[in-house]
Amino acid sequence: MPQFSKPVSIIFAQSSQGNLIRNNSTILSNPIEYLKGVGPLRGDLLKKELQIFTFKDLLEHFPFRHIDKTEVKKIASINPSLEYIQVSGSIISIEVLGEKRAKRMVALLQDDTGILELTWFQGISWIQKSLAIGQEWLVFGKLSYFMGKPQLTHPEMELVTREKTEGKPFLEPIYPSTEKLRVRGLNGRQIGKLIYTLMGLLREADIPENLPEPILSAMQLMPRYEAFRNIHFPPNPAAYERAVNRLKFEELFLAQLRLGMIRSQRHRYSKGLLFGHVGALFNTFYEKYLPFELTGAQKKVLKEIRQDTARGHQMNRLLQGDVGSGKTIVALLSMLLAADNGYQSCLMAPTEILARQHYAGISALLENMPLQLKILTGSTKRAERKKILAGAESGTIQILIGTHALIEDDVQFGNLGLVIVDEQHRFGVAQRAKLWKKSALAPHILVMTATPIPRTLAMTAYGDLDYSIMDEMPPGRLPITTVHRFEDRRSQVMDFIKSEISKGRQIYIIFPLIEESDKLDYENLMKGYENVKAYFPEPSYWISMVHGRMNGEQKEVNMQRFVKGETQIMVSTTVIEVGVNVPNATVMVIESAEKFGLSQLHQLRGRVGRGAEKSYCILLTSKKLSAESRERLKMMVATNDGFRIAEKDLELRGPGDIEGTRQSGMLNFKLASIVGDKHLLESAKTLAEDLLESDPELGSAVNLRLKQWLDSQKGQTLWSKIS
Ligand code: ADP
Ligand code: MG
Repeated sequence: MPQFSKPVSIIFAQSSQGNLIRNNSTILSNPIEYLKGVGPLRGDLLKKELQIFTFKDLLEHFPFRHIDKTEVKKIASINPSLEYIQVSGSIISIEVLGEKRAKRMVALLQDDTGILELTWFQGISWIQKSLAIGQEWLVFGKLSYFMGKPQLTHPEMELVTREKTEGKPFLEPIYPSTEKLRVRGLNGRQIGKLIYTLMGLLREADIPENLPEPILSAMQLMPRYEAFRNIHFPPNPAAYERAVNRLKFEELFLAQLRLGMIRSQRHRYSKGLLFGHVGALFNTFYEKYLPFELTGAQKKVLKEIRQDTARGHQMNRLLQGDVGSGKTIVALLSMLLAADNGYQSCLMAPTEILARQHYAGISALLENMPLQLKILTGSTKRAERKKILAGAESGTIQILIGTHALIEDDVQFGNLGLVIVDEQHRFGVAQRAKLWKKSALAPHILVMTATPIPRTLAMTAYGDLDYSIMDEMPPGRLPITTVHRFEDRRSQVMDFIKSEISKGRQIYIIFPLIEESDKLDYENLMKGYENVKAYFPEPSYWISMVHGRMNGEQKEVNMQRFVKGETQIMVSTTVIEVGVNVPNATVMVIESAEKFGLSQLHQLRGRVGRGAEKSYCILLTSKKLSAESRERLKMMVATNDGFRIAEKDLELRGPGDIEGTRQSGMLNFKLASIVGDKHLLESAKTLAEDLLESDPELGSAVNLRLKQWLDSQKGQTLWSKIS
């Protein structure tokens, strides 16, 4: 079809209101097919293709760009760097060229600087009738080149008349569309015409303001109605920016407000177990067996936990601490607090190795304490399992450490008071929810993350939790030196390892899980193992190996040999990624490091640097690296700060890919991005918190419309309990 378009004012003036429901609260809920220009067929397609069911959905279908029609170019200034252009001139010739399929019509348009070709392949006879030599036209289209000459194919044409005082020139919105919609005459620009029609129907009252006046003025926000108008049909780029800014803020602010309300309601109304006092178990351990002075950060977090659990409300706390910051001891002390108050606790780890390690470490620390402590994992023998289940149910087991085995249905607790989830990102929301149900009154929940979560992500994905940050390392740690080496330097790396082993240190060499097939990964690891063995032959050296094909016991035996120092080298896939603690290990070699994500690299690096000796992380890669791999490696070499790394990871991968957050509905913002709109998010959070502080129920007059808005949106639950 020829793309002759009449001036916008005429096209859009035609809309009639048919059988529309016209009343303030409902016009936006009209089904989309009622809109002039839609109808049943296109309506169905809009529903299927773009999930646009109602007028409101269409209103919230935002353009992804605008074509600038504010400028009329001189023909002489046309150059290949331009994409869409608008020119004005008169027709000086019209010609039909070629035959059949090659048939086309070429008109020449002239302004006071030059001549431009306009070309049509379809609808020629109709266009021929509409065009006449000498007429003046305003022409708009996508610039292309044919035989070195610029031309516009099927341009939009508008007759220039004396009376033309209409709102042109302007920025024309282009919308996301699909192939099927395009075929039905709804391409990215035509959708704009529907939205223009819709806008013509809407009054200010149809898009009422929902933010309180003080916030509008503090943030200098455009009113809501104006923002919707301007995001679609801005008079200039600045107006568009302000509209987007307003709507992004609204999204972020309302989300923060909802999360804040969940939090503050939990603080005020949830019923929780009371850990009323600090008793003998906690105090005895603290005074007699605590192997080191707690860091300030550890003390601060313990105090927060103590306060949370002493109020009679349920604790829901996220504890973030970089690798090695000492979360385990915080967990242990919290469990003693629970025991002092007559409650059981469980500590859930993501892998068998980690559960066993926690069990070993915690048992050793509690050796002289009168406490029943057990471990339950997938490989616990039946008879033992039966005993443990009985002990959990009767309440005689005070601390139960384990893996996913803890959340199986037959595990019942007599009086579970505290659940600690270690290395949180491995557990899905659903799994945590299962634990939640294990006692009549929800136990207190402490979720400990292995990988720091960027602040912005924590604020959104976990915004309904309270969170603590441990940003202080135990004293005496030397920073880990990280280097990047290409594979052709392998022998130097091996020499370095040798010198470290000769000083009595231990080494990790990690291989990635790269292939889809378990078999290929296994072969890859075996090849690596043979290679390492060639450099480090027995009996001068002993090597442990752990991989996914081993059962729990085999892993454990190999792990223990390394923990006890019987082997100097641990060759492994990423099964040892989290939590493993061997303070004598000083070198972490990561093979094919380009294949790992940033947070995973950081986790692996965290396995060394746990003792008093200087530690190293060596990233081995091939020479062929993607730009993103290069950035990851550079970041690893540049910093040991897990929070900075997490920020970078978020930036590189986007929130959808960060483990553990995929399920989060909070990240599906229409406009805002937690990466790009960090500052807006910070303001939204602060303002939401201040507001809830001063008016927790939103009962005051200035907050009335906000309250009404939230009430009207009920049912569109954005969030549910995390644990
Ligand atoms: P993570 O936070 O990674 O789980 P861990 O709890 O495994 O860290 O602690 C790392 C190491 O630091 C352990 O060897 C632990 O004993 C030690 N550690 C923890 N807290 C302190 C402290 N306050 N002073 C000295 N060493 C500590
Ligand atoms: Mg840990």
